Amino acid sequence: MSTSKSRSVPDKAGKFGRFGGRFVPETLIPALLELERAYEEALQDAKFVQQLENLRADYAGRPTPLYRAERLSEELGGAQVWLKREDLLHTGAHKINNTIGQALLALRMHKTRVIAETGAGQHGVATATVAAMFGLECVVYMGQEDIVRQRLNVFRMELLGARVIPVTSGSRTLKDATNEAIRDWVTNVENTFYIIGSVVGPHPYPMMVRDFHTVIGREVRQQLGAHSIGAPDWLVACVGGGSNAIGLFYDWIDAGPRLIGVEAAGHGLESGQHAATLSVGTVGVLHGARSLLLQDDDGQVQLAHSISAGLDYPGVGPEHAWLQETGRASYASVTDSEAVAAFERLCRCEGIIPALESAHAIAYLYQMAERGELRAGEVVVVCLSGRGDKDVAALAEVLGKGDER
Ligand SMILES: *Cc1c(COP(=O)(O)O)cnc(C)c1O
Repeated sequence: MSTSKSRSVPDKAGKFGRFGGRFVPETLIPALLELERAYEEALQDAKFVQQLENLRADYAGRPTPLYRAERLSEELGGAQVWLKREDLLHTGAHKINNTIGQALLALRMHKTRVIAETGAGQHGVATATVAAMFGLECVVYMGQEDIVRQRLNVFRMELLGARVIPVTSGSRTLKDATNEAIRDWVTNVENTFYIIGSVVGPHPYPMMVRDFHTVIGREVRQQLGAHSIGAPDWLVACVGGGSNAIGLFYDWIDAGPRLIGVEAAGHGLESGQHAATLSVGTVGVLHGARSLLLQDDDGQVQLAHSISAGLDYPGVGPEHAWLQETGRASYASVTDSEAVAAFERLCRCEGIIPALESAHAIAYLYQMAERGELRAGEVVVVCLSGRGDKDVAALAEVLGKGDER
């Protein structure tokens, strides 16, 4: 793992500018410090780094291909579009990059039990998968609402030997599942490792989860190099918590391509039903870190909405809030119906069924092309964060009704 850049930001307190930090109950501070120390030591341990690399290659399926999408490029007016195929990884999305890393740390720290929060169930499945592989006890917290919406993933987790605990408090979705997971961790911190699913939460999680995903951008650099392309003009990725996006961006964080994160605009920003935290959120503290979030005037966290369950989160990773503030990255949003249209177009023109999350990134390319921002010959790399098998049933409903477009 390359670690040179990861040491400069965040600072020792886990701050990315005014974002990030460690806002947790007193009882968790020793656990976070222990985790930070164990992580630093692991990075210096050649055996750990080798084990991580082996599992990435032999278990998860890295490196993932970088595919030049000719027909999509043509449809967009001639910019060269490359798709980074994280959808081809084991379990169907980028999330396994992170769960392998954190599970290895859990073993190193002699924890016998791992817990996770999950919304759509993708992170829950990726956690249950590595827990099974390592023989760790696994408990996944999931909102009752999401359990109903994502039955297939609940069944997958159970097949993998995990216990899925329904969360019936609050809005019964990801935000509440995260609260429950934190509560479990406070109680069982002695033997339990909390595997967080994105670049969110208290320090060191946003840094650590980022580092486990930076392999995405490093591979892209090598793969483009093999085609004699030095640097792309644009990097585009969808943003829920922000882990696949930072994983793609990070190798170019200091200079180079324009970085674009695409959030879910749901039914539209003006509707109030969306998950466009970076676009319209305000500063606050959620799940252990200061970042931007969707909240009302009293500081009550609002319900996020997106057709894609993986983007449906009222917070966002603190590093993205900082990258937006410094101007290094920009963030846009696309609606449910734009994402569905892009989903269908990618199926038809490239023979790839993307996750609805990833379809948001593809949809933004069409917006750029319409505005004339994408010039012929420019190189665009899009992170295809996951595959769409999980979304096919929901899509059939939407497209069957034919009223969403
Ligand atoms: C979970 C998920 C996302 C959103 O999470 P990030 O942390 O923003 O990457 C995006 N795409 C897929 C396929 C997912 O499963």
